[in-house]
Amino acid sequence: MNPMAPFHSLLLLSALSFLLFHPLAATDGAADPLYIDCVEQCEKTGCVGDRCFQHCKFSSDGKPIDGHWYMREPLYMSWKQWDCRTDCRYNCMLSREEERTKHGAQPVKYHGKWPFKRVSGIQEPVAVALSALNLAIQFHGWVSFFILMYYNFPSRPDKKTYYEYTGLWHIYGILSMNSWLWSAVFHSRHVELTEKLDCSSAVVLLGYTLILSILRAFNVKDEATRVMISAPLIAFVTTHTLYLNFYEFSYDLNTKVCVTMAVCQLLIWAIWAGVSGHPSRWKLFVIGAGEGLAMVLQTFDFPPYKGYVDAHALWHATTIPLAFLWWSFIMDDAEFRTSYHLKKVK
Ligand SMILES: [Zn+2]
Repeated sequence: MNPMAPFHSLLLLSALSFLLFHPLAATDGAADPLYIDCVEQCEKTGCVGDRCFQHCKFSSDGKPIDGHWYMREPLYMSWKQWDCRTDCRYNCMLSREEERTKHGAQPVKYHGKWPFKRVSGIQEPVAVALSALNLAIQFHGWVSFFILMYYNFPSRPDKKTYYEYTGLWHIYGILSMNSWLWSAVFHSRHVELTEKLDCSSAVVLLGYTLILSILRAFNVKDEATRVMISAPLIAFVTTHTLYLNFYEFSYDLNTKVCVTMAVCQLLIWAIWAGVSGHPSRWKLFVIGAGEGLAMVLQTFDFPPYKGYVDAHALWHATTIPLAFLWWSFIMDDAEFRTSYHLKKVK
């Protein structure tokens, strides 16, 4: 067995953690009678302790309770869904956690989520910042790849690149940037729509990278064969995404689908690395080891440190250097294939 194979498995398995660890099930904090009482009181008075806020003056449809039309809630406020209930829940959670910490208790989850401290309305500022950084790294990698392909490397007489996978990696770049964009949006504000968008874009990315791994590993260059391989997978991912978004949002089903797609990818990359003897295999090795560590981090699921940094945020941090290395591997692969073609031409 190739010594790198286990690392490839770690790489793929931890790519999965993106999808697997978003859902959190425990609801103990929200069942606390003091918390329930606090939310009920707050919805009536608009205050938690001496902290009072605007939004309880508005009913959930944005109309003011005391009836002045000009008091209508600003649109951006409804967009941010800072209605009375979410404000009350958040502030009651903070005050409960404050009390609990005084008594030396560990943080608990509320409505399935750890108690995060907001920064100017952003629910998980650290995860948002890290998602944005990931997005930037993906963009940087993609632009570097673009420049390499079209400005540094010679092209064929028909102006196409010698590397056969250029177009496919462009799509990869776009899909991964899309995925990080929605990750940043989701961590800014957890609502059904942002959660679905984050989840769907991650599934699409995972499905696409599966196709890509098949095409790269089996050296599929012929357009017709590429279409034949991709079509059933695209159909499957499309059906799955539509089902999740418009029929039933099932974490269990999604987990199964993602695990299956990732395991397939893992086997393909592992066998390919073993058989092909690619000159930049060591980069895949490092990526695999890094992702393995990240995977361990994810399984801890500890409460956010100081209310800001949880395991999921740390996982988003580890993907930054790995994305950098991944693009570097892609560029090595492009160089490897291009020089192979140039030698053939000579
Ligand atoms: Zn995330």
